[in-house]
Amino acid sequence: MAKKQFKAESKRLMDLMINSIYTNKEIFLRELISNASDAVDKLAYKALTDDQVSVKRKEFAIVLVPDKAARTLTISDNGIGMTKEELESNLGTIAKSGSFQFKQELGDDKAASKVDVIGQFGVGFYSAFMVADKVTVITKAYSSSEAWKWESEGADGYTVTPCEKAGAGTDIVMHLKANADEENYDQYLESFKLQELVKKYSDYIRYPIRMEVEDYKMKDKPADAGEDYRPEWETVREWKTVNSMVPIWQRQKSKVKTEDYNDFYKEKFGDWQDPLSVIHTSGEGAVEYKALLYIPGQAPYDFYTREYEKGLQLYSSGVLIMDKCADLLPDHFRFVRGVVDSQDFSLNISREMLQHTRQLKVIASNLEKKVKAELLKLQKDNREKYEKFWDAFGIQIKAGTVSDYGQHKDLLRDLLLFHSSADGKLTTLAEYKDRMGEEQPYYYYASGESADKIDKLPQVERIRDKGYEILYLTQDVDDFVMQALGEIDGKAFKSVNDEDALPQTEEEKQQSQAKAEEGKAVVDFVKEVLGDKVHDVRISKILKSGAVCMTADGSMTLEMEKYLRKVEDKSDIRAQRVLELNADADAVAALRRAVDCGDKELAGQYAKLLYGQALLLADLPLEDPAEFAALVCKLMK
Ligand code: ADP
Repeated sequence: MAKKQFKAESKRLMDLMINSIYTNKEIFLRELISNASDAVDKLAYKALTDDQVSVKRKEFAIVLVPDKAARTLTISDNGIGMTKEELESNLGTIAKSGSFQFKQELGDDKAASKVDVIGQFGVGFYSAFMVADKVTVITKAYSSSEAWKWESEGADGYTVTPCEKAGAGTDIVMHLKANADEENYDQYLESFKLQELVKKYSDYIRYPIRMEVEDYKMKDKPADAGEDYRPEWETVREWKTVNSMVPIWQRQKSKVKTEDYNDFYKEKFGDWQDPLSVIHTSGEGAVEYKALLYIPGQAPYDFYTREYEKGLQLYSSGVLIMDKCADLLPDHFRFVRGVVDSQDFSLNISREMLQHTRQLKVIASNLEKKVKAELLKLQKDNREKYEKFWDAFGIQIKAGTVSDYGQHKDLLRDLLLFHSSADGKLTTLAEYKDRMGEEQPYYYYASGESADKIDKLPQVERIRDKGYEILYLTQDVDDFVMQALGEIDGKAFKSVNDEDALPQTEEEKQQSQAKAEEGKAVVDFVKEVLGDKVHDVRISKILKSGAVCMTADGSMTLEMEKYLRKVEDKSDIRAQRVLELNADADAVAALRRAVDCGDKELAGQYAKLLYGQALLLADLPLEDPAEFAALVCKLMK
């Protein structure tokens, strides 16, 4: 019979597994047991609403059968099973979760050198080929009367044929490889070894993992045994459940090691890095629950796309009732992964009903507080880790501050980090406040592409020279964040572009008034030259030594305009650009002389030069770079 080919990615991963020199080959068992447990979860859930499922809850199990004569190890489950189509798509392609990410990480050529990734997080079904030279999968979907056999001896393909099988579920039969110099595959036929591996990797699986094990038992004492009777031992074989079946979140905190928490996380959520934080918590009283939450150290590859689905796994009395319960997590904490287990939900509650239950709201609100507290703790006790978090999810926190009309700003503002003029490090708003003197009227900020660039902006100078710290906003959403924050305890956030960012004395006010009047002719001239390129031209009150800058009137800032242009291709929303001229600068004085003596051509060129500079300083594109270049060259002659 013709073999079917694996999809390209699967073949690559398969090759990797077959030729794996990885020392921890034993993790194949964890992977297969975990798949079996997922399959049972799915059927257990179906069983709640579907009479077709005849298996009783207490009959669900995973069974291990080593067969020394045949040199096979079989892992069976009475879970949901697979239809023919599912067999082909699940075991013929890697399209799913963990495996996919793994594949992406590996890249083409580096595959072999990164093999140690395997041990840290699962590669699923294919890991069977690390220890087996032939794998047979016999499966029957719960909804179907047909059973199917999938068989493969490695990367050159697989076959699928009809077969017989009693109940729904899946048997994975692995024909073990022959022992090699340093590889002992026989050990996977020993019940004590299998027991050890189950304890090590799969102890918390919620369904019994059953196996026939050898035990030594004392023989009954014969009735006629004399004084000198010595107890006799015999070997008995009996079926035993070899895992303790207590899920990790149900265990006492003090009895769980960090390593166990981390392993569980990596295995369950397909990450290969340890999480930054673990929150193991419970609620008592009105709503009882146990929760185990994780703050990941990196964003999943699809986190910032529409494909990413937030949510926590929701269990009720040990039955998984929803894989991603979105209502348990607010959007601003959508990066959190974890599990919630509560007896307070009825098992066959519908998703729609669930959303409206009071219990769910209570748990969600408790967890939100816990996550915030954990993040603050990290921020205080382990800044390095917190900055790693910030790097991965800071944008999400900022987006949360802005979203829903700023509803969550008070909750989230303590978590924000910004660059600032203080010492090049990231700072919280509280730290900024601590450094601020009594007399400082506002929180100051300036926006631009990078801290370095902002540092050199001409309009930053006068605030910095006052000794006031300035937040350097380098991300698109930042201006919106400032708008949402508005003020904290009566102290407002002010852009360095604001004319009233520094309070003025009466004398200073009169001076600026005088300068504005003196500069009126220049301003009018420049307005005429630039036409509708700018909304306004004015003699600046915010420049100190720099000659020009670009700012915006109204509530739409230049940064917001840039942001909107980026997210909405054809956005025609424009900020009201204002070209500001420094009356005290030599370049502006030169322009004024040209205007005063009526040299319109020269004055026009100067005006364009100044306008071009203002655009460049604001990181806005020049409309006519060639003309600008020509003007500069002319000036140099
Ligand atoms: P992953 O578990 O990361 O999705 P695997 O390669 O381990 O990747 O498995 C691929 C898919 O095959 C699973 O998502 C599941 O749908 C199916 N599968 C694997 N093992 C079983 C099983 N014992 N019973 C039913 N379906 C299974």
